[in-house]
Amino acid sequence: MSEMLDQEPLFDRLALIGVGLIGSSLARIARAKGTLARRVVVNARTAETLDRARVLDLADEYESDPARAVEGADCVILCAPVGAYAALAARIGPHLAPGAILTDVGSTKQSVVRDVGPFVPEGVHFIPGHPMAGTEFSGPDAGFVELFQNRWCLLTPVAGSDPAAIAKLKLFWQRCGAMVSVMDAAHHDRVVAIVSHLPHLIAFTICGTADDLADETRQEVLQFAASGFRDFTRIAASDPVMWRDIFLNNREALLEMLARFTEDAQAMARAVRWGDAGYIEDKVLRGRKIRKELLDLNQA
Ligand code: NAP
Repeated sequence: MSEMLDQEPLFDRLALIGVGLIGSSLARIARAKGTLARRVVVNARTAETLDRARVLDLADEYESDPARAVEGADCVILCAPVGAYAALAARIGPHLAPGAILTDVGSTKQSVVRDVGPFVPEGVHFIPGHPMAGTEFSGPDAGFVELFQNRWCLLTPVAGSDPAAIAKLKLFWQRCGAMVSVMDAAHHDRVVAIVSHLPHLIAFTICGTADDLADETRQEVLQFAASGFRDFTRIAASDPVMWRDIFLNNREALLEMLARFTEDAQAMARAVRWGDAGYIEDKVLRGRKIRKELLDLNQA
């Protein structure tokens, strides 16, 4: 699209279903830039969150009923935990406007196609999405305008998705500062299983292991926490409902990556047991190489 069109808001009415870290970041960007939508309506599950969004002045309208929130919206983005999608889709489906784009920000994609797809009416463009950006914080206070800057947003259109609608959604994320890549949902789920879901599983597990230690040792873990353990605790501080839903909705890919990881961890254990210094050194070198590649790609 031309530079001139860049100045026009992409949508008339943007409905955000869920206004936590991700939803409130989108609302803040829409407010700050004015090029995403003319009006923004937000919905949350609880009155507390909706009230907080109002205090923060995140939107033009605050709607406690998701069905009413999506009425007349030409773009609807589900920003709730993925386990809530099926019920939300059933509720909003009949109220979606013809020609609207229905998308989401959920961390799993095959489950979204499974849970939301059946409720999408004819004429509504359903294009699941996943911004690969986040922090360990949640709720409407946690969002910020720069969250998606230089981060990837992965779109997983379903068969027959309208190319014009995909292009418009791509532009939406680019205006949020993101880089966009399009792939199929199954591929997405395998990629995020290794880059995001498995690291979280390891972080939750190692914090649990430390917490199970005898009292006196546990105290020392906290007191003398070296940077390795500290970094795990940051990841492990994430929202329990969100991560429960992610694990349960990316089961196959996560279990497959965990099985591969477990084999590799066993190989490392064997190297340690038998004093295989070369093996250990090689693994550490490969870790350094990956870190350097991330830094070079500006994704660290
Ligand atoms: P969050 O900060 O915990 O916010 C979740 C929002 O969803 C809240 O406004 C919550 O409302 C609302 N909600 C929960 N259940 C709902 C329901 N049944 N109906 C309507 N709203 C409901 O979560 P988040 O971090 O923004 O994550 C939102 C989505 O983004 C998730 O699907 C997650 O997988 C994905 N994601 C997260 C990250 C990350 O790092 N956090 C990164 C990329 C993608 P109440 O407060 O009223 O319950």
